[in-house]
Amino acid sequence: MSRFWSKRARGLEPYVPGEQPRERRFIKLNTNENPYPPSPRALAAIREAAGEDLRLYPDPLCTVLREAVAETYRVKPEQVFAGNGSDEVLAFAFAAFFPSAGEGEAGAARPVLFPDITYSFYPVYAGLWDIPFRTVPLTGDFSVNAEDYLYPAGGVIFPNPNAPTGRALALRDILSVAGYQGKAGRVVIVDEAYGAFGGESAVPHIGEFPNLLTVHTLSKAASLAGLRVGFAIGREELIRGLSRIRDSFNSYTLDRLALAGAAAAVSDGAHYDEINRKVIATRERVSGRLRELGFEVIPSAANFIFIRHPRLSGAEVFAALRERGILVRRFDTPRIRDYLRVSMGTDKDMDEFLEFMEAVSKKAPKGNAEGAGDEGYCGRGI
Ligand SMILES: *Cc1c(COP(=O)(O)O)cnc(C)c1O
Repeated sequence: MSRFWSKRARGLEPYVPGEQPRERRFIKLNTNENPYPPSPRALAAIREAAGEDLRLYPDPLCTVLREAVAETYRVKPEQVFAGNGSDEVLAFAFAAFFPSAGEGEAGAARPVLFPDITYSFYPVYAGLWDIPFRTVPLTGDFSVNAEDYLYPAGGVIFPNPNAPTGRALALRDILSVAGYQGKAGRVVIVDEAYGAFGGESAVPHIGEFPNLLTVHTLSKAASLAGLRVGFAIGREELIRGLSRIRDSFNSYTLDRLALAGAAAAVSDGAHYDEINRKVIATRERVSGRLRELGFEVIPSAANFIFIRHPRLSGAEVFAALRERGILVRRFDTPRIRDYLRVSMGTDKDMDEFLEFMEAVSKKAPKGNAEGAGDEGYCGRGI
């Protein structure tokens, strides 16, 4: 704390991003980056944009990118909003659509609903904008139960597939939530960060549901986490709401290099189909092998898997992997402290990972696989 901080700054609970080690010695399976290179056409477009025109501001309307998204997703450019990473788009969407405390009838806004186990940035945005929220527990097998969201609320947000579980929710369930919340005039946001790896997109239904917004990123499937580009698709009035927030904050959130590279990437479906087929094949192979080794693997529709060993604590497996030079992600929160989220790397990286996990599982204490609880392991020195 500092006496120079505003009340707002003091009250924040910022998001803690996954580690980005400065040295290259780690096999990095901790932030769901794509292990394969981005579209060569995107890189060429970025190089081409790196010229004297950089003295000029970029297009605040992001026209080239919105047109490319519109063509690829079969929507209108007016139904696309672009931002500096989908994190920014999400932050704007919380501000644009979810009621803050004191806004509701009788001065009490209904809380926004999202799963108890989900992208950990959502409660941070809610805190930033003073938006009340309520988390809805996933079922015992970590599924979203859509009926839990048929409930008067300030709005709803969840990723599909969900993170960090990797589980996808059926499209008909998403649409039932959108229909229910739409009748109450509330917005439903589907964060499709991992949509290219599985699950069904809600984009074809934005016409039917004026309250449905999908959010997308180029950081995962498009291998461009370093470029910082995301976008949202929804009806024109939602897009205009996002633009109002952006233009009250920073009209030029996407620079010239990002716009050029992202537009080219979005148009290069062939490249991404090829690399992401490989990611999916790796996910299936690694999941199968880990199950053979005795790990529990939540069925994943994303580019990562969520795993647990029935007789080893998440903390000790995490530490052993790190020691071996393999970074994965662990969330020290209720229900999931013993799970690790493992991003899919190249097949060579994953072979090294599997080799180490085999050694880990051999050193695990013998016993009943059902013996695992939520917490309370002691170190067993793997
Ligand atoms: C990675 C991720 C994002 C953020 O993507 P950026 O475009 O890199 O900001 C958003 N939502 C979910 C669920 C993610 O996992």
